[in-house]
Amino acid sequence: MNGKKTALITGSTSGIGLAIAKRYAAKGYNLVFNGLEPNGAEIAQSVADEYQIEHLFFPANMADPAQITAMAADSLQRFGSVDILVNNAGIQFVSPVESFPEAKWDAIIDINLNAAFHMTKALWPKMVENKFGRIVNMASAHGLIASPFKSAYVSAKFGIVGFTKTLALEGGPVGITANAVCPGYVFTPIVENQIPDQMKTHNMTREEVIEKVFLKEHAVKEFITVDAIAEAVLFLTDSAAASVTTGIALPVDAGWTAH
Ligand code: NAD
Repeated sequence: MNGKKTALITGSTSGIGLAIAKRYAAKGYNLVFNGLEPNGAEIAQSVADEYQIEHLFFPANMADPAQITAMAADSLQRFGSVDILVNNAGIQFVSPVESFPEAKWDAIIDINLNAAFHMTKALWPKMVENKFGRIVNMASAHGLIASPFKSAYVSAKFGIVGFTKTLALEGGPVGITANAVCPGYVFTPIVENQIPDQMKTHNMTREEVIEKVFLKEHAVKEFITVDAIAEAVLFLTDSAAASVTTGIALPVDAGWTAH
């Protein structure tokens, strides 16, 4: 325990989560890293070295409530509190509903939705005791609007927006805020990995998938950067407005949901 605030970010050894972790590291927070990248420990260590911060790397499988609870307990033991929780870990699978594999449906709901419940439940009592907590759930434009062939993902992301609003109502009187961020397409492994399935499902080339599937609905025809998403998370946890901004689902989506 070093008197500094602590941020726990799930899925923070890749993509958006890693960008968020770096922003908190730059502000001197203690960090709890999580993720299943095989080199996750080295990624976490290199961020900690670069910014001279204390950290824990805990590769809990977010599909397993027992591992989530253990990560929460270890984090509280090491740092005394977790002040910022970013429920960010997520996976995707693209398929028409009639051939959507049951195991993929269950994994998406477990990792993208149920994990946020287990993580939040485990850390909530200490936040209440401290009269301080900032929770950000990584939803998606797909938490506000649907696309075909993503039934499990859209269901999980709409669910997490509802979960966020409920947390805001329960947390408001006890010093806890909860918000969701709803990114459009950000070019990370979760998007890269969809390209083969999208090519198959839509019968398109890689270039056509990027132009006609990913960027089609963006008013600004660009991928969103991981830094833009990290900036939004910082705003919701660390700005002058953060103590009264709660229960929102903030699109950072290049105009996608303006349709
Ligand atoms: P990513 O694949 O780069 O990162 C996902 C992270 O989650 C990785 O660290 C991965 O190891 C971790 N993860 C996956 N399954 C896990 C499990 N079972 N246990 C522990 N960790 C696990 O993808 P990203 O784009 O950075 O995605 C981060 C979040 O942003 C996800 O919730 C995703 O749905 C959301 N999102 C992404 C986009 C986008 O276009 N990239 C758009 C909207 C929302």
